[in-house]
Amino acid sequence: MLLIGSGNAEVGFAEGMEILRRGGSALDAVEAVIHHVESNPEDHSVGYGGLPNILGEVELDASIMDGKTLAAGAVCAVHNYEHPISIARGVMERLPHVMLAGRGAERFARELGMKKRNLLSDEARAIYKAKISDSQRYDTMRELVMRATNDPEIAATAEEYGDETPHGTTNVIALDGAGNLASGVSTSGWAWKYPGRVGDSPIIGAGNYCDNRYGACACTGYGEMAMRSSTAHSVVLYMKMGMGLRQAARQAMKDLRALAVPFPPGMNLVAMDRLGHHVGFTTETDRWADYVYQTGNMQAPKRKKRTVVPLERRIIT
Ligand code: ASP
Repeated sequence: MLLIGSGNAEVGFAEGMEILRRGGSALDAVEAVIHHVESNPEDHSVGYGGLPNILGEVELDASIMDGKTLAAGAVCAVHNYEHPISIARGVMERLPHVMLAGRGAERFARELGMKKRNLLSDEARAIYKAKISDSQRYDTMRELVMRATNDPEIAATAEEYGDETPHGTTNVIALDGAGNLASGVSTSGWAWKYPGRVGDSPIIGAGNYCDNRYGACACTGYGEMAMRSSTAHSVVLYMKMGMGLRQAARQAMKDLRALAVPFPPGMNLVAMDRLGHHVGFTTETDRWADYVYQTGNMQAPKRKKRTVVPLERRIIT
């Protein structure tokens, strides 16, 4: 049995590993690990305490996939529910759908008996306020939104605040004792994003993909890139076509070089094959340098450096 994840997932590994050791499923382990990240107020990229969109509202995306059945569930642009990963799992297991958005996802969460919570922590609000009052260029929030939408060259705005925009996500992949794989992704997306913007995390094939026969992959980073390149599915597909895990992940990262993008790009992934080999890749050298893993024989998780595959910067000007 094995758990891997982005560095911020470590807070939930103890419980995830306990579930696997008890004979629990990969799906249960993934959901439990992600719960910890979603409730961690110090993590400003996932769940409660996540940084808000440009209007100051926390909007969450998440997805979960079962490698045994290829069943998947996802939610996007969810407000006021702390555990989008569990809403996503509910979608997968109880509805004949894969994804619910916004109000529909919130309604479904209510039907599942989940409690509402204001997700904007004091700290996240303070970071947001500081950022907004920092933006001397803009008189009002409205002006900022107008510029982001009306300017046909969104890149201009992107240059002003996109470069340093804090972002993050949590990725978790589990292999259980029965040989089943599951993968989960949860995020508050890019801070100060346009309201309703959905990233790669809830898009099956972009930020998350899992298939017992080959392996699984989950992404963090500039989600629009993974959406345009189907990064998570590419890794699994390359394995299906005969590549080893490392080669498959490297090829999916290299594929991103074809994309012209308005932001300075960045992409990261963790991936596992069906035998429990694992890798982490990044286009960057600092922020996302480590991923975390733990086998059933290890007392505690360990961190491992990601392999760097730099991008050529094809930034739209
Ligand atoms: N991939 C996430 C998104 O685009 C953000 C991140 O991982 O940094 O919403």
